Amino acid sequence: MNKCIFLDRDGVINKDYVDYVYTIEKFQFLDRVPEALRKLKEAGYLLIVITNQSGIVKGTFKAEDVMLVHDHVQKHTDNALDDIYIAPYHEKWTNSLTRKPDSLMLERAIAKYNVDISQSWMVGDKQRDLIPGKKLGLQTCLIAEETCPEADIRVDGLIDLAEKLVEEKAEAV
Ligand SMILES: [Mg+2]
Repeated sequence: MNKCIFLDRDGVINKDYVDYVYTIEKFQFLDRVPEALRKLKEAGYLLIVITNQSGIVKGTFKAEDVMLVHDHVQKHTDNALDDIYIAPYHEKWTNSLTRKPDSLMLERAIAKYNVDISQSWMVGDKQRDLIPGKKLGLQTCLIAEETCPEADIRVDGLIDLAEKLVEEKAEAV
């Protein structure tokens, strides 16, 4: 089985904006994220993005734009990301169990990649990212100023989680 870090994108990998990030020009890595992704990869984790992108159903941008941004991340992280799951929906148009806080994207990824839930994490900057993680028994990490009941830990950035997990691994050896 595989251990995996499931990552929300906006607010975890890159700076978030209310009007979405769908161009490379607007995309900005949060502090030390490429380094954090590399560290986690080296520690043996799969890295899978689980992202709501309702701007697609709203017509603000297209699925291809999300993939252009994804390719940009890959280019700057030595292809650290193993996969990306995108929910293009919004409840105003259509209900879908894929859109977080529902858990279908995570369930599909867990099944496809044979993920060991007990060694894996869901990382997000909103409560709706952690709710599906908690429901499935993943450990949860919140990147935000305020914590929430579903968060097992709260950190300022992805690098903090990466350092914690790498240190734990070193201690276990
Ligand atoms: Mg987010």
